[in-house]
Amino acid sequence: MKHITIGEINKFQCVGSECPYTCCGGGWAISVDKVTDEYYQSVEGDFGEELRTKISREQTPALMKLKPDGRCPFLNEENLCRVYIELGPEHMCDTCRFYPRMERSAGDRVLHYMTISCPEVGRIFFSRKAPLEFHTVEDGNPRLQYPVSSPDWHYFRLAERAFDVNFEILRNHSLNIAQRERALLLFNRALQDALDAEKWEDAEKLFTFFAAPENYLSMTRSQLSGHLPSKVRFFRDLCELMLKREGGSTVYRMFAFSIQYILSAQADMDALSECLKMLDGEEYQREEENLLTYFLFHFYLDDALLDKSANRDLFRRLVFILSLYQFYRIFTAIFSSQRKEIMPLKERVLTIAFLSRYFEHSQDKFREQFNETLAQHQFYDMGFLFQLIS
Ligand code: SF4
Repeated sequence: MKHITIGEINKFQCVGSECPYTCCGGGWAISVDKVTDEYYQSVEGDFGEELRTKISREQTPALMKLKPDGRCPFLNEENLCRVYIELGPEHMCDTCRFYPRMERSAGDRVLHYMTISCPEVGRIFFSRKAPLEFHTVEDGNPRLQYPVSSPDWHYFRLAERAFDVNFEILRNHSLNIAQRERALLLFNRALQDALDAEKWEDAEKLFTFFAAPENYLSMTRSQLSGHLPSKVRFFRDLCELMLKREGGSTVYRMFAFSIQYILSAQADMDALSECLKMLDGEEYQREEENLLTYFLFHFYLDDALLDKSANRDLFRRLVFILSLYQFYRIFTAIFSSQRKEIMPLKERVLTIAFLSRYFEHSQDKFREQFNETLAQHQFYDMGFLFQLIS
């Protein structure tokens, strides 16, 4: 087995009751795997009785019966897990034992990462001074969390090669981050065009061409300058989609507030523009690079294992990633512009955790709706995208 891991998964430690956005209290469905549930049904005493009554077995897999406020029934008032306390970590169900570690496997590949829907993972990623790295190890006997049956290997290997080129572009520190993002767009647009036309030789040439930075350097020096109204329009249209969903959390209210503010006469566009420039600073470029690396691993490579649809599109996959980042960036700039300083790390981490819970764990079609919104508003247009990321 070839294990590909992003970041230092083994260093993660849950901060438990200190967590500002606990995973067991946000209304997520918590499935209980069969082996663990069988054990729970054998536990005796009062706690055994609780395990029998607070887990729903009307469906497969069994699910924790969440409280009306969305909290896990075993989360105590100090935000500590009573299953962990009463039975020990070895008897946590797979969902709770693995989270926030994610693992997807197919054939001889196992992809490992940690999801930034956990704020502690976000804090680790955002505080990191060095670029996020990958580790590849061979191991014959893994425990597999999410096996994928019969992926489209031809497509996955293609996505894997494209991912390697994307990753090298993103790691090219001789270019600023906006230039790297433009290079990513150029590569993926050209590659998808070649794939759509079934011009395999052209696709091969593109892999070689974009592997050498000197080939694409001049193409990334955009004459288009950042266009604030385009950024605001982009944010407004996507924010409206986010607000259609049920909300109530602090960050949700922040979205509602930011859209009202940006459309109001009081909005200080000069301050917003200044904050967007501040986010181009070196400190935030590393944050951006690491976040984009994470998104590429998750939404480009990992998702390619699952994608069997007829209209697979690597360019759109990349635009989704860049859009998600730009949405977060503009949101951060809006809030920062009102305070005249960039939002502190803790709040940036919570924002990205909140967005991640929308995009990575939602059971509904939210990502599809996001992509449809990008299409409806012509946000796949290369001219628009160059303005958005400049
Ligand atoms: S979200 Fe992360 S840090 Fe918070 S309780 Fe869950 S695993 Fe722990």
